[in-house]
Amino acid sequence: MGPLPGPRSLRTPYVAGNWKMNLDRRSAVELAEAVRGHAADGVDVGLFPAMLHVDEVARVCAGSHVRVGAQNCSDEPSGAFTGEVSAAMVKDVGARVVLLGHSERRHVYGESDAFINAKVIRALSEGLEVMLCVGETIEERRDGRTEDVCRTQLVAGLEGVSRGDLERVSVAYEPVWAIGTGETATPEMAGAVHAYLRGVAAGLFDEDVAQALRILYGGSVKPANAAELMAVPDIDGALVGGASLRPDTFLPIIVAAS
Ligand code: PEP
Repeated sequence: MGPLPGPRSLRTPYVAGNWKMNLDRRSAVELAEAVRGHAADGVDVGLFPAMLHVDEVARVCAGSHVRVGAQNCSDEPSGAFTGEVSAAMVKDVGARVVLLGHSERRHVYGESDAFINAKVIRALSEGLEVMLCVGETIEERRDGRTEDVCRTQLVAGLEGVSRGDLERVSVAYEPVWAIGTGETATPEMAGAVHAYLRGVAAGLFDEDVAQALRILYGGSVKPANAAELMAVPDIDGALVGGASLRPDTFLPIIVAAS
């Protein structure tokens, strides 16, 4: 019998682009076509376009290795919630996954852990996958609270999620101070938090589930730093903002993950 597979080999690398409130319909389609046309052996690729473009981008990526997601969804199933979009609606237009707990939702729109958890439960119950973001601010890091903050966000975000449903969850560790700032956590800094979060998941569920859980790093990932970050055993891919908006900066990050 050959050697047993190492933990990392349990987890397919995952690289996702968070387009935020950028791109018009035509450029979203062109970018999706470029990503779709790029073979990525052994890498799962995700795209999170603006809500209005999910439908079209999902059509472009249908039948390919690229999964399309929404950047948000409501915690409510349907009804009088003006301006909201339900998990069932995003699934209906072809989304497979939803991004929840992004720091911009937490810090700009004041979303609480409980509210994010309600969305996680709603999205999973509609059959979607979830990418749950956690991460500390610069003040929290300086105060030595990185682990506490990330643990609290992970535990609260996963409250009520079953062991079976966790298979449809991935986590993105995104230090708030590294998002859109050009500052990146070093591989050592990020790797330490990823290993810590995997331990938290093991405590919440069990070691097998924790070893299968994909934990992506996000925060100013670019072609120049992607490979060294994703070489860290506990870093299973990248959630990419700014560099996901152009093929010449996003596609090399996918290559770096393979
Ligand atoms: C993000 O918004 O999820 C992100 C990681 O952004 P950036 O890559 O631009 O830091």
